[in-house]
Amino acid sequence: MTITSDTQKIDLIEAGKRLASVLRALRAKVAPGVTAGELDELAERLIREGGDEPAFLGYTPEGAHRPYPATLCVSVNDEVVHGIPNESTKTLKEGDIVGLDLGLTHNDVIVDAAITVPVGEVDEETKKLLRATEQSLMAGIAAAIPGNRVGDVSNAIAKEIERAGFSVVKELGGHGVGELVHEEPFIPNFGRPGSGELLSEGTVLALEPIATAGKAGVMLAPDGYTYRTKDGSRSAHFEHTILIEKGGARIITA
Ligand code: MG
Repeated sequence: MTITSDTQKIDLIEAGKRLASVLRALRAKVAPGVTAGELDELAERLIREGGDEPAFLGYTPEGAHRPYPATLCVSVNDEVVHGIPNESTKTLKEGDIVGLDLGLTHNDVIVDAAITVPVGEVDEETKKLLRATEQSLMAGIAAAIPGNRVGDVSNAIAKEIERAGFSVVKELGGHGVGELVHEEPFIPNFGRPGSGELLSEGTVLALEPIATAGKAGVMLAPDGYTYRTKDGSRSAHFEHTILIEKGGARIITA
């Protein structure tokens, strides 16, 4: 969406604050023995207690054959994104990593953010993967300034991931957000600087680098949502909703 009024901007900022607070509570809950279903229930309860709605629950993305059945996406280790938390028992173990992706609707404004969290102590390579993916998100945000193009953001993200020796997942990427969960433009996590749509003040975007420790290939599971790496390597995902302002991007879900 493009922000056209102060009221919209106030709602957007408030939505982001609320989503960030739910994600903080989820991060704190992550521990060996906790199930994906428990994280999903906590997310839904906290969102509803705030008077808001889960944005993913019941949402059918383009190409999907059924509505998403949960509040939260919980993707463990080689699960890349869109892991369903409440259709099987997924119990977190020491040394795992877990991606938590959450959308929230506040006063009709939708925000979207994700973090990947270590479960207990993880190995050095995994720490490096998490660090590089989060840094690539920050690099993408830094490039999201009025006058730059989508390709500048895409390129900044890919450079950071590849410099660290990891692979960029090509099939998935960021998107416009605000009125709908997924809006134009699509923001690949790789691309040529200076290419693609021009970024302008007031645009709300969700940037979401997705990296793997092995090869870039992913496959969709029979549940129609869960993406996994083809080679079984681990994957990390970080996402923020941002608002492009004159001086640069403001992180809405910080
Ligand atoms: Mg997203």
